[in-house]
Amino acid sequence: GMYITIKNHVDGAPQDSDFELRSSPLSLSLDPASHEVIVKNLYVSIDPYQLNRMKSYSSSQQRSNYAVAITPGEDIDTYAVGKVVASGNPKFVKGDLVAGLLKWGDFTVVKPGGMLNKLDPMGFPLSYHVGILGFSGLTAYAGFFEICKPKKGEKVFVSAALGSVGNLVGQFAKALGCYVVGSAGSKEKVALLKEKLGFDGAFNYREETDLKLTLQRYFPDGIDIYFDNVGGDMQEAAVSNMNINGRIAVCGVISEYTDREKRGAPSMIDVIYKRLKIQGFLAGDHMNLFGDFLSTTCDHLRSGKIQPLEDISDGVESIPSALINLFRGQNIGKKIVRIAEE
Ligand code: NDP
Repeated sequence: GMYITIKNHVDGAPQDSDFELRSSPLSLSLDPASHEVIVKNLYVSIDPYQLNRMKSYSSSQQRSNYAVAITPGEDIDTYAVGKVVASGNPKFVKGDLVAGLLKWGDFTVVKPGGMLNKLDPMGFPLSYHVGILGFSGLTAYAGFFEICKPKKGEKVFVSAALGSVGNLVGQFAKALGCYVVGSAGSKEKVALLKEKLGFDGAFNYREETDLKLTLQRYFPDGIDIYFDNVGGDMQEAAVSNMNINGRIAVCGVISEYTDREKRGAPSMIDVIYKRLKIQGFLAGDHMNLFGDFLSTTCDHLRSGKIQPLEDISDGVESIPSALINLFRGQNIGKKIVRIAEE
């Protein structure tokens, strides 16, 4: 099989030279006693947090990092969809479609206890199950509904709004009847947010000189909910524009992943006087919502209330550039690499 690994720990923004394509022998005959399952990978997820796993951390930092660190040379696992090609596990047979933790490569040997579930595509393309109907979708759903507790008519701001999680937060908020504004890094993205996804407003943060004033312009009556995907200066500007009893879901701080320097710092006086609730969360802690999330999102997809937004490239060898481009804002919607057709 072919798989992607890192040559070294990554410092700052990832570069092509940090990655390597390796091959290793793969035997498709399994010892049934091993209980292993061999999966042919079909669609693999590309996510910003992978970069955080690639950094070199002191051991104490490593413990607070929720996903296991990656050692150079090691295979890299990710949420993905695939097809069973050989099974020593009585729960799976050859031909089963599955979703779980698979490799950034063309095949995965899943050990007993590895995260692997049978997948019912429910009439949707398999790629949806990596993004909109997978973890990105659950992140948006749990972060918005459970953490932000939104009400119809509230004013919602979402950053990295055309990204995988952000676009869904905005679409869930619109479906609920909120006023929704998003930020993104290009004119093209701003146009898509307004014209394709029906956001009430959108702006290109790269063209703005004073984010506090920009947010004041889009939210003359203040922000009730901020869904934070980026951290940094935008977080600081959002806190200063929040309304009393506002909620902030801290989903990710991507502007800080490539940069050790601390930029924005929200005013804690604002947090106190406005009685803000600021909560970090991990989608994986909200698996109890997966059923609700799936039925709501499938309904919205079928009725056309929510549009899927995917950005798919092909082949194991395109995985490094797919990750690198997330930090350059090159993706539109969920970034996925198609390893093989079903
Ligand atoms: P996206 O599809 O949103 O891709 C990342 C986007 O971030 C880029 O397209 C880019 O868009 C934007 N971006 C990149 N660098 C910067 C920067 N320096 N400043 C501002 N924006 C930047 O990825 P995901 O939807 O997968 O993830 C979004 C966020 O959610 C991330 O922070 C991620 O870590 C987090 N996350 C958290 C989870 C949880 O359980 N808490 C689960 C999944 C994701 P643009 O054009 O706008 O710059």
